Amino acid sequence: MNPIQMVDLKSQYLRIKPEVDAAIQHVLDSTAFIQGSSVREFEEQLGQYSGSKYVVSCGNGTDALLVALMALGVGPGDEVITVPFTFVASVEAIALVGAKPVFVDVCEDTFTMDPSLLESAITPKTKAILPVHLYGQCADMEPILDIAKRHNIKVIEDACQAVGTEYSFADGTVKQAGTMGDIGCLSFFPSKNLGCYGDGGAMMTQNVDWAAKLRAICKHGSIEKYHHVCLGLNSRLDALQAAVLQVKLHHLDEFIANRKAAARFYFEALKNVDWIELPDNKENTVHTFHQFTIKVKEGKRDVLRQYLTAKAIPSMIYYPIPAHLQPAYKYLNYKETDFPVSERLCNEVLSLPMHTELSENQLQYICETIVNCPL
Ligand SMILES: *Cc1c(COP(=O)(O)O)cnc(C)c1O
Repeated sequence: MNPIQMVDLKSQYLRIKPEVDAAIQHVLDSTAFIQGSSVREFEEQLGQYSGSKYVVSCGNGTDALLVALMALGVGPGDEVITVPFTFVASVEAIALVGAKPVFVDVCEDTFTMDPSLLESAITPKTKAILPVHLYGQCADMEPILDIAKRHNIKVIEDACQAVGTEYSFADGTVKQAGTMGDIGCLSFFPSKNLGCYGDGGAMMTQNVDWAAKLRAICKHGSIEKYHHVCLGLNSRLDALQAAVLQVKLHHLDEFIANRKAAARFYFEALKNVDWIELPDNKENTVHTFHQFTIKVKEGKRDVLRQYLTAKAIPSMIYYPIPAHLQPAYKYLNYKETDFPVSERLCNEVLSLPMHTELSENQLQYICETIVNCPL
């Protein structure tokens, strides 16, 4: 059995090496390293895959969030509602445009924004809602979009962990993560479900004017070179990354299928372990398992983690500290007990190895080790 890794990018690369190497060589031969044809081609292909009218690529997922907020005119004096149980970038982007991050707690079972808490957090200053599709599962978008519409507030989806995840509405409509709100943000960080070999990101929108605005902001606020119509920055997906992403987008359905198969193995093998809670698999959102995150009763999580480490099984805590208790966001004046679900989850969650190359032997070993853990 090969050593178990949290994410195994090497084995995946070896499996698709001929395609990736040829795509990279093609860019090297063209020497069009910035905004080459592979970038536009990838944007078009991702639009087709996700059902998004417009895809605007950028430098990384954090920039995608930042540029989305800039395009919607969010700034000082505005409030943006998000969750404290997320990767810090969701909150950071709001603070970077000078707006105030306002938190609502997450649901105990899905780890995503609790729509029942949303309305009471809305004030006349609320400009946008920024739900996070955590671990590969969509936030409950139908009620979130309804509330946003009623209050005339924009919705920016942090879909950085959920490319390809489908969400079903009550009327039967199915949409992909990132295509439901006003702007959806993706990250192509190497370990994400669609990852490149460096940094990369994209924004998706169904609105032609915002697409143009997003594109302009990423190019120093210009549509025509050296004519600057608004404040912008430099955020680009480079051609080498786009070439890698074109190859990997081609394999994305298969990658997601591999993740789902590993998840099925975990669900089956761990279903009778009464001291852990398995992730929720809601019917209205097809989980793509960016992470397979279990909950371990408070106090026992760290014991299990040490035990797994001793047995050469890696695991990770995403995330150990909620955003509202991070020193960087102390100025928001939140305190412990403000978001009890997020705070409890930080003490209970443990993400198990999850990637496209897990073998049955490896999964068997991981699950047997957990089942036999003396807790
Ligand atoms: C990865 C991630 C980001 C940021 O993406 P980068 O490409 O690393 O900048 C933002 N939000 C969430 C939820 C993420 O997982």
